[in-house]
This record gives sequence, C-alpha cells and structure tokens, in this order.
Amino acid sequence: MTTLFSKIIAREIPADIVYEDERCLAFRDINPQAPTHVLLIPKQEIARLADASTADQDLLGHLLLAAGRVARQLGVGDAFRLVVNNGADAGQTVFHLHLHILAGRPLHWPPG
Ligand code: 5GP
Repeated sequence: MTTLFSKIIAREIPADIVYEDERCLAFRDINPQAPTHVLLIPKQEIARLADASTADQDLLGHLLLAAGRVARQLGVGDAFRLVVNNGADAGQTVFHLHLHILAGRPLHWPPG
C-alpha cells in the first residue's frame, strides 16, 4: 500500500530531506520528539519490519549503516537512538518501514 512516505520519495509532498542514496531517504519528522528527529526510509515499499524477508537482508543492513551515516552527518553520531515501531499497537502510524533517528537530548530507558 502506498503511503505519504512514497509521495515524499517522489517529491509530491515536501519534506526537509537530510540524506538520500539509491536505496533510502532521510528527512526530518514533522512532529519531532527530540532536537534531532529524522525518519530514514527505504525507497522500496515495505509496510512493516515484520513484512521484510530474507530477500531484504541487504537492504536492512544498508538502512542501519545509513542511519549511522546520517547521525554522524547531523553531528549526533556519538549519542542517538533508533526506533522502529512495528504495528499499530506498537505506535506505528505510517505503514512504510521507517527508522526514527532520535538525538539531542537525554534518552531515557525504558522508553515506554
Ligand atoms: P510511526 O508512528 O509510524 O512510527 O512514525 C510516523 C512518523 O511520521 C511520526 O513521527 C510522524 O510525526 C511522522 N509524519 C507523519 N506525517 C508526516 C509528514 O507528512 N511529513 C513528515 N516529515 N513526517 C511525518
């Protein structure tokens, strides 16, 4: 199912894009929960992490490496948190796989 994130990839909806490569795109969250709050998404449409398969193994690794690169690029490479909400009960509202990159304030544990 196509979501608004696909429209951001297609530049049909504006976003504050901070990183792009051939497989993924990162842009600032419209409702930031930390001074740095970026969403990193694959260009391939995968609704939820749980829908990824072994065929996506390389892409998932690419996303993790890109997350570190984005964090370093934004100056928060030494202290950031990645969050993936999988499913509505876990807080997922947009059904296009995305990694939240959060940084810039103390990040407590457990996250709640
Ligand atoms: P989820 O709740 O699915 O894990 O995360 C979805 C995120 O997308 C939320 O943090 C929400 O603020 C963000 N979001 C929703 N709509 C837009 C939008 O149009 N633009 C941007 N940049 N972020 C959005």
